[in-house]
Amino acid sequence: MSKLYGSVEAGGTKFVCAVGDDNFQIVEKVQFPTTTPYETIEKTVDFFKKFEADLAGIAIGSFGPIDIDPNSETYGYITSTPKPNWANVDLVGLMSKDFKIPFYFTTDVNSSAYGETVARPKVKSLVYYTIGTGIGAGAIQNGEFIGGVGHTEAGHTYMALHPSDAANDFYGVCPFHRGCLEGLAAGPSLEARTGIRGELIEQNSDVWDIQAYYIAQAAIQATMLYRPQVIVFGGGVMAQEHMLRRVREKFTALLNDYLPVPDVKDYIVTPAVADNGSATLGNFALAKKITKK
Ligand code: ZN
Repeated sequence: MSKLYGSVEAGGTKFVCAVGDDNFQIVEKVQFPTTTPYETIEKTVDFFKKFEADLAGIAIGSFGPIDIDPNSETYGYITSTPKPNWANVDLVGLMSKDFKIPFYFTTDVNSSAYGETVARPKVKSLVYYTIGTGIGAGAIQNGEFIGGVGHTEAGHTYMALHPSDAANDFYGVCPFHRGCLEGLAAGPSLEARTGIRGELIEQNSDVWDIQAYYIAQAAIQATMLYRPQVIVFGGGVMAQEHMLRRVREKFTALLNDYLPVPDVKDYIVTPAVADNGSATLGNFALAKKITKK
């Protein structure tokens, strides 16, 4: 019987569960809204139970912050999330107790970053950002995630303020930080500045230039800190061609020829995996990796 691998993309608004074969082709995939932990985890377990006889392992990429330190007492927990009911939930413990297979636990953006390296066999070093209602990033060096006592949180680094935001005394909407990337550039910041929901803002609005300025700064940080071969931007905002163009232009201006980087069109890109499938592919590959050990 062929081995199957499980993927859980645990998002703040929805859970995407999938089972894939040895070639990472999807055998079955479901998604449902993230409601209470009990209800959501029960649905997840029920889905994988159908495949239990053939499942070799399951990888979970979760919203966070999460505890990924195997030596920690709260390993596998979602920790300090502001999402109601989900703080201090033992996600891995609750999901794995009914199975006798290995589980792998990481952030949703690490799963996506991993999937993007699977889709780019020549790339060994990559940073993946998602720009949506929140901002997060996963970084990979030689096939391993970058992190130490925990996972990285590149969405919450402090930014140099855009002149327009400085003039308006606008420091973003993050409840934890005054002037971090997520607070200044995630979806809710657009509405905070304009009073209009992001998807309804005209393409020629100046607010896109402000957002692109911060996303370009994130690309500068990734470049300076990690020197990756490629920086991938996922999420709905960056799927708009005009945003990709704006970010590339501002990145080039901010870098100011300080370091050699690949051609910006090959360097600052959108996902290689279609249909938001990066995390699912990454999880299949991570599940396979842990079962080979
Ligand atoms: Zn923040």
